[in-house]
Amino acid sequence: MAECRVCFRHCQIAEGKLGFCGARTARNGVVEAYNYGRITGLALDPIEKKPLSRFYPGSRILSVGSFGCNLRCPFCQNHDISWSEEAKRWADTAETLDPDALTRLAEETRSRGNIGIAFTYNEPLIGYEFVRDTARLAKARGLRTVIVTNGTAELSVLEELQPFIDAMNIDLKGFTDDYYRRVLGGDRQQVMAFIEEAVRHCHVELTTLIVPGENDSEEEMRALVSWVSRFREPDGESLPLHISRFFPRFHMQDRRATEVGKIYRLADIARETLDYVYTGNC
Ligand code: SF4
Repeated sequence: MAECRVCFRHCQIAEGKLGFCGARTARNGVVEAYNYGRITGLALDPIEKKPLSRFYPGSRILSVGSFGCNLRCPFCQNHDISWSEEAKRWADTAETLDPDALTRLAEETRSRGNIGIAFTYNEPLIGYEFVRDTARLAKARGLRTVIVTNGTAELSVLEELQPFIDAMNIDLKGFTDDYYRRVLGGDRQQVMAFIEEAVRHCHVELTTLIVPGENDSEEEMRALVSWVSRFREPDGESLPLHISRFFPRFHMQDRRATEVGKIYRLADIARETLDYVYTGNC
């Protein structure tokens, strides 16, 4: 058995088997990324779609994803590459692209408004070695680098990545340990520690998906923004927060989409404390 120390789960992985996330394996007693360079999605997206609203607005970014996830959000919109049975098949079928080839593709699309590479779609940190190697090359070639993440990783992972990353969108999916543990299979404390450290190194925006009956109280939003307001960008502004609407998907079909009025109300509450609050999927 080899212990993976990328996230709070600390999986014990038997030789040749996969960890909980389906993206890491053990070879010769050492844990490595099984999904290294294995690509399930590649698209030139508007930067606002990440979402990032205050980082090169109006630009586009080459967005790349692999497979696997260390959370179990029942409403996942990317379940085909994250943690469904279908997603597991990518372990055998995903095509590979090495960091140099991906970086060259990013350079070739500069003329179409591309500013760099975004690691997104599935959870990038569970395959952080590919992110690190690609981002290092991309930075050396004058490209911008972005991670879209659930923030569920040890700070040692962030330490390896931070020299090469310009911006992150990090999910802060709610503000109770119970919601993270019971509904998402996550660890809010690890996410909070990750955010706290990330803001010291790069531009950070946060995203909260509001799920009816779970994390939609005004009280919880007030607690969340109160914590977020302690962090400042170098220009003194608070971190941008994206408040997004839930739609019934995947394993969570027992409730309706979040009411638009609820999103607007929570956004108004957040604006009492934060400088930039955006609503999504409304
Ligand atoms: S990154 Fe994957 S293998 Fe490693 S501890 Fe987390 S879930 Fe387990």
